[in-house]
Amino acid sequence: MSHPPNLQERLRLDGVDTLLVQFTDVHGCAKGKLVPLAHLDDVLGIGAGFAGPSIWGTGLPRTGPRSEYHAVGDPSTLQPLPWMPRVARIVGDGHVDGRPFDACPRQVLRRATARLLERGWMLRTGIEPEFFLLRRAADGRWIPGDDQDRLDKPSYDLKSLCRQAGFLQELAATLQACRLDVLQLDHEDAHGQYEVNFAHDEALASADHLMLFKLAAHALAEARGLVFSMMPKPFAGQPGSGMHFHVSLWENRPDGRCVFEPQAGADLSPLGRHFVAGVLAHAPALCALAAPTVNSYRRLGPGPSITGTTWAPVCIAHGPNNRTAMVRTLPGRFEWRLPDAAANPYLATAALVAAGLDGIDRGLDPGPAFTEDLFELGPAGWARSGLARLPMSLEAALDALEADAVVCGALGEALSREFLKLKREEWSAWSGQVTPWELQRYAAAF
Ligand code: GLU
Ligand code: MG
Repeated sequence: MSHPPNLQERLRLDGVDTLLVQFTDVHGCAKGKLVPLAHLDDVLGIGAGFAGPSIWGTGLPRTGPRSEYHAVGDPSTLQPLPWMPRVARIVGDGHVDGRPFDACPRQVLRRATARLLERGWMLRTGIEPEFFLLRRAADGRWIPGDDQDRLDKPSYDLKSLCRQAGFLQELAATLQACRLDVLQLDHEDAHGQYEVNFAHDEALASADHLMLFKLAAHALAEARGLVFSMMPKPFAGQPGSGMHFHVSLWENRPDGRCVFEPQAGADLSPLGRHFVAGVLAHAPALCALAAPTVNSYRRLGPGPSITGTTWAPVCIAHGPNNRTAMVRTLPGRFEWRLPDAAANPYLATAALVAAGLDGIDRGLDPGPAFTEDLFELGPAGWARSGLARLPMSLEAALDALEADAVVCGALGEALSREFLKLKREEWSAWSGQVTPWELQRYAAAF
């Protein structure tokens, strides 16, 4: 791989002596290792080596040439980490046996963006992580890190925001030092829940940034005795953590125009409407990637919350500036409100692209736009309006994924197989649990 010959020297002058070679496993967790800067050429060439089967989702064998996973550094991602003195992060692309590894999530997204590029397009996303700051009480319960955070409607609460300002400002300053454009930070709709927004960027860069954000937030929270949590729904009766994607498609050239930009009237161009129609048509399968845990389906339920609503989508619908719909359309872009904080950003984006392109290729129509409050409408109203519900469990979403050749095709044979296997195991482990709720309800009832 070619790189400026003075790259190593430049990093050394920046005070860097170590590389953090990072990749993302199928679950969306950051993994990697430290490599002395002197070996930058190896990282950019053959890549940092890992035992393949020790990484979730690779499905690689324990022996032979395919047992080695190499993370080949992408030099455009090199970035000194403010919270780890002398360390620069570099994002790796998975390679096996000298070739791009088809089941590496970043390679999956690369394949998806290459399909767009063939048509002269570039996808931009703005990923909006919501998260909790938690700690463990003396009795072992997980509770909000700020125990004064108890309002009935905690959205935009400045008191709790101020109490956490030390963490939030440090997080923003850290991300800004890493060249991420932080737009805003706020208190969300549950106790101990916050959100950070970044400027939209090209899809692969956005996913890399999201992983950088997670690395930073984990480290900075831990230093303050807090646990940074991207669990989709830690507290029953309170909203969960979404990770909405703002999505727009652009001509891939300098000064390229947004191909979702409408001519007049509607939020989206005909092409944008086809893209959205594909996202609606494949929503059940997308759910497996966007809401990938057992816990994700507590968030997507329509149940009551302390604040009156969960703001998480329940049925497969789109509507202009409608936050109760799965797809909220806005002029020239849409907000995909399905993903939660546990989604792997590479896989969710790749699956979204596959669905959107299928909508374009088949010229699908998204159907009526809904302006009403879909939470208010309720099950009878959804049925009357012909609206399908999103899968109500991880198992149902996995069934939908398995049956969806378009989305599985975008993930690739190896990754779909591994993802389905791991997630079916997760579902089966959950299904064997007896929860406190069940004991409370049934133990003495019959
Ligand atoms: N927390 C909500 C969710 O789980 C979203 C709240 C909002 O609209 O920002 O999707
Ligand atoms: Mg939010």
